[in-house]
Amino acid sequence: MVKQPARISSLLDAPIERHHLMALAVTVLGTGIMGRGMASHLLSEGFDVTVWNRTPEKAQPLANEGAHVATDVASAVAGAKVVITILIDADAVLEVARELPGALAEGAVWLQASTIGAEGTAAVARFAEQNNLPLVDSPVLGTKQPAESGQLTALVAGPSELIKAARPVLEAISAKVVETGSRIGDGTALKLACNAWLATITAGIAQSLALAAAQGLDPQLFLDAIKGSAVDTPYAQLKGGAMTAETYPTAFALDGLAKDLGLITDAARAHGVDTGILEAVSGRFGTASAAGHGSEDIAAVYESFKHRP
Ligand code: NAP
Repeated sequence: MVKQPARISSLLDAPIERHHLMALAVTVLGTGIMGRGMASHLLSEGFDVTVWNRTPEKAQPLANEGAHVATDVASAVAGAKVVITILIDADAVLEVARELPGALAEGAVWLQASTIGAEGTAAVARFAEQNNLPLVDSPVLGTKQPAESGQLTALVAGPSELIKAARPVLEAISAKVVETGSRIGDGTALKLACNAWLATITAGIAQSLALAAAQGLDPQLFLDAIKGSAVDTPYAQLKGGAMTAETYPTAFALDGLAKDLGLITDAARAHGVDTGILEAVSGRFGTASAAGHGSEDIAAVYESFKHRP
């Protein structure tokens, strides 16, 4: 099948008319790290935001910022024009989605933003089709801070009329919206390719710092050496800084990326892509998790290099 060309837009391409935003009701289902940040930013942009979380205490602080805090999914989505699911995995999304038929308002759009892999997205798409739910596959790139500041990248696939209806919300949460076309699952496919890159460079930074340290160098010298060169990235300096400080405040939990690596490896196997690098990288994240760093930031993969074979 010939894919439609990807389309990239930004706020500059299509300025949002603020008076349209003011009335737009958005529901965020899941107020973990990402959902809380998204909801908070949508509130700051003037959207009418309702939140729901399985553990209600984690949604409650958003009430101070002006959110309506719902006690169940059905009442949370009633009246919403756009509903965002941002939950840990496919099981969680399907569990929550079971509450949507009959509860979603006419004309609403469901942006499925959680990272749930190809199989998970296919299962969610089947459920949506069976129940006539207006699904858009829309995983996001970026972590806690980009979620809080509306600087995520949304990777969007689905019917164009649904994407159009949800565009004010997509553009509010994102610095960039990348459209892959109409085929549900292509946003997720792109997300998996992006997270393979994220995991590989994070493990690579840790490896180089560990190698420098093991050879008797101050590991900071590695970051100084690459700084400003073609092989530097802001990410290397950011995560490398956390690694040299050995403090890992969570922007993206290590176990979350370990989960994604499983989904990425499944996709690679399914499409005949060699999994050698993925297996090595997964091993590092698995070791760090087993050593008790699963709820810390992905930068804690550095700890896995301290356990010598
Ligand atoms: P998180 O902080 O661990 O939050 C997970 C959320 O899922 C919480 O709201 C949690 O509710 C909910 N949940 C888990 N199991 C559930 C279930 N069975 N039923 C209902 N709700 C359930 O995770 P996060 O970092 O926000 O990530 C959310 C999604 O975004 C994941 O798919 C992740 O891969 C993806 N993502 C994360 C990042 C990042 O940097 N953090 C970046 C891009 C994409 P409770 O509070 O009740 O546990």
